[in-house]
Amino acid sequence: MSTPNPTESLDSEREHTRTGMSKAALKQDFLDNLFYIQGRFREVATPHDLYMAAAFTTRDRLLKRWVESAQVFKTSHARTVCYLSAEYLLGPHLAGNLVNLGITEAAREVGEELGLDLDAILEEEEEPGLGNGGLGRLAACFMESLSTCQIPAIGYGIRYEFGIFDQAIEDGWQVEKTDNWLRNGNPWEIPRPKIRFSVGYGGYTESYRDDKGRSRQRWQPSLVINGMAYDTPILGYGTANANLLRLWKAEAPASFDFQAFNTGDYYGAVYANIQAETISKVLYPNDEPEAGKELRLKQQYFFVSCSMQDMVRLHLNTVGPLETFADKFVAQLNDTHPALAVAELMRLLLDEHVMSWEQAWDITHRTFCYTNHTLLPEALETWSVSLFERLLPRHLEIVYEINRRFLDEVRMRFLGDEARVWRMSLIAEGGERRVRMANLAVVGSRAVNGVAELHSELVKATLFKDFAELWPERFHNVTNGVTPRRFMVVANPRLSKLITRTCGHEDWIRDLERLRELEAHVDDAGFQEAWRAVKHAAKQDLAAWMQQASGVRLDPESLFDVQAKRFHEYKRQHLKVLHIIRCYQRLKQGQPQDLVPRAFIFGGKAAPGYFMAKLMIKLINAVGAVVNNDPQVNGWIRVAFLPDFNVKNGQRLYPAADLSEQISLAGKEASGTGNMKFSMNGALTIGTLDGANVEIREAVGAENFFLFGMTAAEALQRQMTGYRPWELYQNDPELKSDIDLINSGLFSHGDTQLFRPLTDNLVNHDPFMVLADYRDYLDCQKMVSETYKDTERWTRMSILNVARIGRFSSDRAIREYAEHIWKVTPRLIDPASGGDS
Ligand SMILES: *Cc1c(COP(=O)(O)O)cnc(C)c1O
Repeated sequence: MSTPNPTESLDSEREHTRTGMSKAALKQDFLDNLFYIQGRFREVATPHDLYMAAAFTTRDRLLKRWVESAQVFKTSHARTVCYLSAEYLLGPHLAGNLVNLGITEAAREVGEELGLDLDAILEEEEEPGLGNGGLGRLAACFMESLSTCQIPAIGYGIRYEFGIFDQAIEDGWQVEKTDNWLRNGNPWEIPRPKIRFSVGYGGYTESYRDDKGRSRQRWQPSLVINGMAYDTPILGYGTANANLLRLWKAEAPASFDFQAFNTGDYYGAVYANIQAETISKVLYPNDEPEAGKELRLKQQYFFVSCSMQDMVRLHLNTVGPLETFADKFVAQLNDTHPALAVAELMRLLLDEHVMSWEQAWDITHRTFCYTNHTLLPEALETWSVSLFERLLPRHLEIVYEINRRFLDEVRMRFLGDEARVWRMSLIAEGGERRVRMANLAVVGSRAVNGVAELHSELVKATLFKDFAELWPERFHNVTNGVTPRRFMVVANPRLSKLITRTCGHEDWIRDLERLRELEAHVDDAGFQEAWRAVKHAAKQDLAAWMQQASGVRLDPESLFDVQAKRFHEYKRQHLKVLHIIRCYQRLKQGQPQDLVPRAFIFGGKAAPGYFMAKLMIKLINAVGAVVNNDPQVNGWIRVAFLPDFNVKNGQRLYPAADLSEQISLAGKEASGTGNMKFSMNGALTIGTLDGANVEIREAVGAENFFLFGMTAAEALQRQMTGYRPWELYQNDPELKSDIDLINSGLFSHGDTQLFRPLTDNLVNHDPFMVLADYRDYLDCQKMVSETYKDTERWTRMSILNVARIGRFSSDRAIREYAEHIWKVTPRLIDPASGGDS
């Protein structure tokens, strides 16, 4: 043995401890973090201390990869994707990061050596709920896949102090509890006090001549606040690439305090401080835009302004002249929430960097791409011109000028078609004038995409018909996907191990199409048996968890029939309720012949102000209270509501589902991603031809999918020729008796009025055509039951669903964006060389 220089030995030892991947290094770092960061030793550590130490130990290893990635991206001037999203529904970090680092087993064994249970530590993590549902979860899947696909990227968003509310169920009703997720500290983020930008609001604009005699505009805001960056590293799977999620927190600028202090207005200063901080205080808990909510517009401008200023700063620091901005960056708008970025980049280039309009527009227009997420008219964002002008007077001028030039182009192309000009304008006229954010996003972007084939076709045929006629080459489809790391490897370790064992490799985790290799084993009785055992174990886990979370006992032998997603009339949770009531009535009438024992499981939050959605939750729990307590039926059917559906609880649900309910009215669900997560975990789908259901059915085979209901075209046709739900109600005795049973008060302690708003709406209006699809849905459910009785057939269908689901990986979606929309290529970070590639 040589005797090394003691200083050197210490350094290499340290290096090893903080970044090494051996069990010894992990264990030492864990104990060090427990001691030096949490100030505890093993014997007195609380579960939270243990979680924090595990998180810091994992983070140490992330940081190494992240810093190396950042160096390579910077020195190589790599083209970079900036994903702009008002929401990121990340889910717990620890388990995902362990998987992507490849140290889950090592961490488990280190835990055992220390007498600790890794699963208990993972349970401690409170997830950052910085999103409402599908859209925010998509952004989180995309960030993970961007890293896995080795594409340089920055995710920009808002560091909400309070995320989506926690849902409790009291007396069957949803009760919202504030989500104080930062209360115990967030070990995954790194505050960047030196990365701060000012953001202005209000005031006025003025014209002036600059020192070169050019006529220019100046914005004098009446309020200026600061945005400070908080960075979270996002690691890819099986790669050293890590990207950056940069979230902005609003705060009062320091100078503000001084001024007030000098004038003795102490309370005024504190108040201004609070005022500023409210901007990133809370996530709006609604899937749809909040009509006229000033704070919401402030939030949007806040994060967009910080993000665009940051991109300009990065460009000037690395590449240099702003003329090449659109070569360095592509910015993806996740829905219209960040559409103000178009006007903000124009403002920065025109007013702060003295560019001509033509050049600024050329850069801006080449920078942005826009993803549309909905066709529902109530979900299309518009802002009244008066509010817009009061908050963002300079941006309104810019929007007007974009519009003036754009409408001239339209007039030139479609001579004399003023109706078209009217429809395409960025400003809706007639009544209160409003800024149409979707039109701004389309005009300001070089590519526009929908999120599933059907949706993208409907985008071109309906919502943006005029735009697709003007710029057909601008419109694309990129079908959504989800990350198999979280929704298979983390959520369903048993299934993942079975797949790995059967295929003989783990490559399917990064190349999900390789799940096809399972097809060769579909008839293998031993494999089928193992497949069923995996599902059964997941159902037992869920049943145990449900018992303590909701008090409902579920029988793992029964068919787990699950619908978990935000509550919305278009998603038609009430259609599933009608099926439960039908089963209940048939059991009461002694006709259980073609039923199988079923657990009807629901999960999902309702927007706090969405009365009908909350009434649907109450109805489910009310039906459950009757069914679950009726010994005549409760051996056959059970109803369970999983409270607080979020990413963490979703991970318990997807692996345990036999049947996935994707029953929206065709034409209404843009894509859906829950449908993909269920299918990846071996659930069969009962669904309409809506969103990505269409493509899932094509992929897994029509014979392995339970299809029912009208097509989008049929639904539209029927709406146009006069849809009369009350005739359906009158003419179908079973439908009538199901609805009448709700109105009878059976589920509401004799109150015949409680559910009237819901049943009256169904019978008289039924905007989402529940009654039109009722009969077909029941018939299809009968097929589901019959198929479930044939265990072997069901197992085969389940295996084939997983084997053929590969294209719904978000890796595939990201590669499509990279190739067709972003024109960006992967940059490999080589861990061995310390970063250079
Ligand atoms: C995937 C997911 C969704 C989206 O579900 P859909 O069925 O596509 O609407 C919503 N919420 C959470 C927590 C999710 O994980």
